[in-house]
Amino acid sequence: MKIIMLGAPGAGKGTQAKMIAEKYAIPHISTGDIFRANIKEGTKLGEEAKQYMDQGLLVPDELTVKILLDRVAKEDCRNGYVLDGFPRTIPQAEVLDQALNGLGDKIDYAIDVNVPDENIIKRMSGRRACLSCGATYHVEHIPPQKEGICDTCGEKLVLRDDDKPETVQNRLHVYHEQTQPLIDFYTQKGILKAVDGTKDMEAVFHSIVSILE
Ligand code: ADP
Ligand code: AMP
Repeated sequence: MKIIMLGAPGAGKGTQAKMIAEKYAIPHISTGDIFRANIKEGTKLGEEAKQYMDQGLLVPDELTVKILLDRVAKEDCRNGYVLDGFPRTIPQAEVLDQALNGLGDKIDYAIDVNVPDENIIKRMSGRRACLSCGATYHVEHIPPQKEGICDTCGEKLVLRDDDKPETVQNRLHVYHEQTQPLIDFYTQKGILKAVDGTKDMEAVFHSIVSILE
């Protein structure tokens, strides 16, 4: 099963993608996590990506598409995957489509996690991320067991630089301009499924599982 998660930044794509990946035993692939890992390791890719990420802008398609296509070509992706944060532009979606077409394959579902802009800023300011293992929490809605500490790996949780309110506004603007058109793109392909992302995490997951089964 090959699944794409769509939705504004902070809509809950990553939260749901991790739950899908666990239930269906497929890899969760987040281009944002790949970039953050590269920033942490101090690679050239990380250095380049950071310039865009810190401003709330998209990393150029040339850089993003290559890392994604390399990742989905790996052995663990043979039975499917859930993509979180890719594609974010029509050209990215087209390249993915062509690459899959060439293998006689296709995306099965594009799931739009729908959350209005007014809820997003609150979600983002409360998000706490573990830059070590990629786990995500929310100070109010999904708190860790011990404040400020990752349940999974024990590392310190941080407010991501790009989750500060001024950057979130930019990211929302970029989302509406460049990413939202993907909703029409996948609707035309007949694979778009929308879920109400304002519900609690378990309720959203329940809606997604009903779509997938
Ligand atoms: P995205 O991957 O779309 O950017 P995340 O999955 O990181 O979004 O979620 C953004 C923030 O909202 C996180 O702090 C997360 O813990 C929280 N969150 C995710 N889903 C829900 C939900 N259904 N209700 C409330 N908060 C949520
Ligand atoms: P995310 O973790 O999905 O919220 O992504 C964080 C940031 O990484 C985004 O704001 C972009 O700057 C960058 N990024 C992640 N995925 C992509 C993508 N598919 N295309 C371009 N930039 C991306």
